[in-house]
Amino acid sequence: MAKLAMKPAADLAAVRRVGIPRALLYYRYGRLWRSFFEELGREVVVDAPSDRGTLETGDRLSVDETCLASKLFLGHVAALARQGVDAVFVPSLMGYGRFDTFCTKFQALPDLVVNAFAVAGEQVRVIALRVDEPGGQSEEDAFMGLGVRLGASHKETRRAYRAAAAAQRAYDEEMAREQERLVKSLSKLPAADRPLTILVAAHPYVAHDPFVGGVVEDALRAQGACVLFADETDRARVLKRSYDFSRSIPWIVNRELIGSLLMLHEHVDGIVLMSAYPCGPDSMADDAIERCIHGKPILTLTVDAQTGTAGVETRVESFVDILSYQKKGGYLNA
Ligand code: SF4
Repeated sequence: MAKLAMKPAADLAAVRRVGIPRALLYYRYGRLWRSFFEELGREVVVDAPSDRGTLETGDRLSVDETCLASKLFLGHVAALARQGVDAVFVPSLMGYGRFDTFCTKFQALPDLVVNAFAVAGEQVRVIALRVDEPGGQSEEDAFMGLGVRLGASHKETRRAYRAAAAAQRAYDEEMAREQERLVKSLSKLPAADRPLTILVAAHPYVAHDPFVGGVVEDALRAQGACVLFADETDRARVLKRSYDFSRSIPWIVNRELIGSLLMLHEHVDGIVLMSAYPCGPDSMADDAIERCIHGKPILTLTVDAQTGTAGVETRVESFVDILSYQKKGGYLNA
């Protein structure tokens, strides 16, 4: 008897307004995700940047042990649900290789969202997508499957994925190029004219979320410092470089941050290591950085759901003051 090929169901064909939470890996893959849905004719709603209300809502939906970044994510999902989107995009990202994995929080994210809302007696429709290259599901495979569920043909989906991947690549390259230009122009200045240069090393959703890293960036700039970001870099290059530091750290983002830190070390006066409490990968990687990367002062900042960024500005100001004195020859010569 001839086998009947099962055609995947277009169960998401009626979804027209797709919400994308402005949190977690949106800060890394936002262009890819957004363009993919738009290429397939969907209206994409990205909610407003985080604020105190986002955190309070996410905190209410979470168990205590949840990290601040995941709490913010839940707050963003709730904001999109209030805006009446048909479904919220919540990818599950496992990794791209044995030592290029993501934190387990990203792997469990669709289940976390569905369960957190169910426990609160609320409902949210989730569009999940699973990228697991070591397990045989590449990013392209995952999007191909999603396109079919959205009712698009294979050809339309492939075109949409390729356009979206190109948009993300172009954005990443531009960010890396811009920072490289800045580093080059700083290195051409006479030492006396060079502004204090600080490298902020943090997961992108910590570094660039205005409610979290934005406070640090503003405080640094208000003190006249030039700010570099460890994640705005050539990812393939820094990932490779990270193997000089460790061959066994499994998390891709921490690896890239370490590689970037090694590459930019000689160009900066100080480093701000920033983390969202309680973060397993950062607690291990940041400890290793503090113990093994020497020669530049490091300020470690941990932001939690209770205190938020209270006190962060004062710590950043003191750090910059100390570095400025050091640059002028130290306290004895100031
Ligand atoms: S890496 Fe840390 S901050 Fe990011 S999701 Fe995982 S536990 Fe949370």
